[in-house]
Amino acid sequence: MKITDLKCAVIGQNPVVRIVTDQGISGYGEIENTKPYLKSHVLFYKPLLIGEDPTDVARTMLRIRRMGAFKPWGSSVSAIEMALWDIAGKAAGVPVYKLLGGKIRDRVRVYNGGVRFPMSGHSPADYAENMARMKEAREGFSLIKQGIGYHSQMFSHSPDYTYGEYRRAERYPNRGPITEKGLKYVISCVQAMKEVLGDEVALALDCGPGWTVPDAIRLARALEPLNIAWLEDLLTGDYVPYVTADLFREVTQSTTVPIHTGEQIYLRENFMDLIEKRAVSVVGPDPEDVGGIAELKWIAEYADLHGIMMAPHGVFDGLIGLAAHVQVGAAMPQNYIAFEYPVGRPEWWYDIVEGLPDPIVKESHIAVWDRPGLGVDFIVSEAKKRLSDEDRDFFE
Ligand SMILES: [Mg+2]
Repeated sequence: MKITDLKCAVIGQNPVVRIVTDQGISGYGEIENTKPYLKSHVLFYKPLLIGEDPTDVARTMLRIRRMGAFKPWGSSVSAIEMALWDIAGKAAGVPVYKLLGGKIRDRVRVYNGGVRFPMSGHSPADYAENMARMKEAREGFSLIKQGIGYHSQMFSHSPDYTYGEYRRAERYPNRGPITEKGLKYVISCVQAMKEVLGDEVALALDCGPGWTVPDAIRLARALEPLNIAWLEDLLTGDYVPYVTADLFREVTQSTTVPIHTGEQIYLRENFMDLIEKRAVSVVGPDPEDVGGIAELKWIAEYADLHGIMMAPHGVFDGLIGLAAHVQVGAAMPQNYIAFEYPVGRPEWWYDIVEGLPDPIVKESHIAVWDRPGLGVDFIVSEAKKRLSDEDRDFFE
């Protein structure tokens, strides 16, 4: 089998990759809905892929994996990898998890990072009220992640919470020491949320990046009695193109709260420091940033050998991304906790894709399906209605 074309269409806000072969089989991959600007980046790889056998996924990936970087520049390579597995599975007539080593579990646990309700304010009571709504969500989540500190609006509402200049500008890297008042405010919000959840639903916290090491340690120690599932991206993380493993190690060794990072990191090589130094307790690569699903599986195995858990990031990964998470999640080792459940945005995404269970999530789990490849496909007649003029020939 040979690759004859690589196409990319922006559907809604998600760039979608389609790899076309000479045997009538197409494979699909997807990029986060926060990155509609990557279409031309995807097409950059096309000349490197034409003529390769897509079912030799690893050898095909050697052509492109060194030509990517940390988030957002690993996304195109990752989506292409996903599409290659989709083809390999379809060609072999088996679901992708079989090609990744086979099933460890029949149902894959998800956590809530994307089913959200509007906040009525930013007081501890507002956080508690909002958490109560998420607890009642129909997916029955057993683990909910909430943004706090620099990964939220918390500090933007008071000049007294940080020592630095807090800027509201989009993607501005706010960072720096937090005042006693700021620290107490964050802790009281977490306590209020935890009171709502009790021990029925676990609470994970996405915190930064931006905390100093001493503040991170103070926060973690103060939260120890609450049995928080993990503290994510305290120091570096989301869109930071480096890792700071030694600093994470200092925080991790200073507290009993599991420390988590990894959503921005590209390739297994860039997890070596974190994992070998046991600098964190949980890693959370995103299959749409790390280099794909086999890359994610490899990191899960290596983390497991070092006593580190796995909770993949995925909130913006879309419905093809969701299918990829389910396939690799089924085959992850037993250090697997849950992946971050992506929701289709806009809502019409659910009308253009077939193959997902209905409802998708039951009691915080997704049952693993057995259709070949990733196991989801476009309903082409419906999906065509959502293509822009520029992408009109995407399915042809
Ligand atoms: Mg995060």
